[in-house]
Amino acid sequence: MSERIQAVRGMNDILPEQAHWWERFDDTVRDWLHAYGYRTIRMPVLERTDLFVRSIGEVTDIVEKEMYTFVDQMNGESLTLRPEGTASCVRAAIEHNLLYNGPQRLCYTGPMFRHERPQKGRYRQFHQVGVEALGYAGPDIDAEHIVMCARLWRDLDIGDVALELNTLGDSAARARFRERLVSYFGRDEALLDADSKRRLHTNPLRILDSKNPQMQELIAGAPRMIDDIDDASCAHFEGVQTLLKAAGVPFTLNTRLVRGLDYYNRTVFEWVTAGLGAQGTVCAGGRYDGLVEQIGGKAAPACGFAMGVERLLELMQHAQPVAPRAIDVYLVHQGAAAAQFAFGVAEGLRDQQLAVALDCGGTSFKSQMKKADGSGARFAVIIGDDEAAAQKLTVKPLRGNGEQTRCALAQAVALIRGK
Ligand code: ATP
Ligand code: MG
Repeated sequence: MSERIQAVRGMNDILPEQAHWWERFDDTVRDWLHAYGYRTIRMPVLERTDLFVRSIGEVTDIVEKEMYTFVDQMNGESLTLRPEGTASCVRAAIEHNLLYNGPQRLCYTGPMFRHERPQKGRYRQFHQVGVEALGYAGPDIDAEHIVMCARLWRDLDIGDVALELNTLGDSAARARFRERLVSYFGRDEALLDADSKRRLHTNPLRILDSKNPQMQELIAGAPRMIDDIDDASCAHFEGVQTLLKAAGVPFTLNTRLVRGLDYYNRTVFEWVTAGLGAQGTVCAGGRYDGLVEQIGGKAAPACGFAMGVERLLELMQHAQPVAPRAIDVYLVHQGAAAAQFAFGVAEGLRDQQLAVALDCGGTSFKSQMKKADGSGARFAVIIGDDEAAAQKLTVKPLRGNGEQTRCALAQAVALIRGK
């Protein structure tokens, strides 16, 4: 036997026992996005590296150490597997002039790639559902995004997710705040860890985002951004809060919330749960008014958010079991003529929107019936030589103690549908 080839570390197979949860999640998400008027966009998983460096920011965890970047052997171009979707979505909107037709409510879902240390809730290939509203300036759209999330948690039957909210103000406010942070952290430079020391002069805001427990006391004493915020951003933030209160969505103001990506301004938020241990953030987002222009488009305000599908699925599975979707019919057959007839019957049943698993393997009648029982199907349809000769089907209920019936295809369909 040859040596086994295994999956890449941190990149998971989703096996059938898990996949039904993903399907339930996808179905719910599709209806939910539709209810808010968001339209799907699908972007490639590979982009030019510059796109992420320019949008996410050079001094961020993602760009500094998490990207899968390689040189295309054909033309020497540097390419990167997307670590998130916002940059690609904005790139695509600019490239195809979507904003020419007015503001756009867009959404996408798919795998993202980050070279992190794999652990529960943190993978190297993981999945996000992302929502981006491009061309909208008012606080109503920020609030819409948050209210949307609250509805999704209800639709998915997950509770215990709390909203944290902050505002980062405009770029001048951020510059003022930056100076205050440099002087505050600069006074105690010896207490900073290596990452924070490096960031002190490149991107001191990111120090607030540090997860290092040893840094938390120092961070707790740092100046608060809220004190530097400009009036227009304050009014915007008030607008968001008023709408959230009216919608009955509770939130906590967290003045340390800065988010790990550089493109945010004004509103930022995270949905956090205590139910997942250290990886407690299930959804995060905010406003990014400068990004469209920064990656070459005509300036346009925007905001959006992304949620981590694996973390949400974990919460769904805590909440309540969901049975996998069962097939309607397991089709049992014996003999050459029966096999041929059965193949056509299976297609005929599927034409009537029934889900059918056809036994393939030609084992004994008894062992096929065992498989039928194990398949979760509600009915077995049995075809032997007699049925093949008469062009009839024997329908046998697999649950309860209903009688088995021999009949033509149309009657079988009615029976299986319960009519
Ligand atoms: P974290 O602080 O957990 O590293 P982040 O700020 O890097 O998260 P975002 O870039 O905001 O994450 O991505 C949005 C969401 O995607 C996160 O809230 C999380 O639910 C999920 N996510 C991010 N990175 C991973 C990962 N490596 N594995 C699984 N889910 C992830
Ligand atoms: Mg991260």
